Amino acid sequence: MSDSLNPCMTCGACCAHFRVSFYWAEADDAGGVVPVELTEPLSLLMRNMRGTNDRPPRCIALQGEPGSCVSCGIYSQLPSPCREFAMSGENGVWNEACDRARARYGLPALFHPSLPDMTESYGIAGASQPAEHVQSPG
Ligand code: SF4
Ligand code: SF4
Repeated sequence: MSDSLNPCMTCGACCAHFRVSFYWAEADDAGGVVPVELTEPLSLLMRNMRGTNDRPPRCIALQGEPGSCVSCGIYSQLPSPCREFAMSGENGVWNEACDRARARYGLPALFHPSLPDMTESYGIAGASQPAEHVQSPG
């Protein structure tokens, strides 16, 4: 059993920091997989996860509080921004947006190219975890 934890499992900051918007046809009433009742119209062609266009934003599918034990209630039905958003440091690539969202909740940055690699201490170096999260700035 691994003694390291995926930082996303105790974070969830990106789910409560950005607007999560995507092409309307990703919703399951149009042939996609995202439960339409968890979305709302954003524009003629776009929808967003319900709650992420609020102030402050918080995705309706987020379970738990950011910075504590969290999970996504629709992990197998994610919209594209959530699938494509990479945890900072994943595969050695800095994701400034991930670290910015974490900072909002007082969580430390996971990675920065100008600093020593911090991902080792989190056990994520070279991880091939599916990208779980986000989005466009709200
Ligand atoms: S991708 Fe980044 S901000 Fe989102 S849950 Fe994972 S560590 Fe937190
Ligand atoms: S991964 Fe996406 S759908 Fe799931 S809680 Fe986060 S923002 Fe919402």
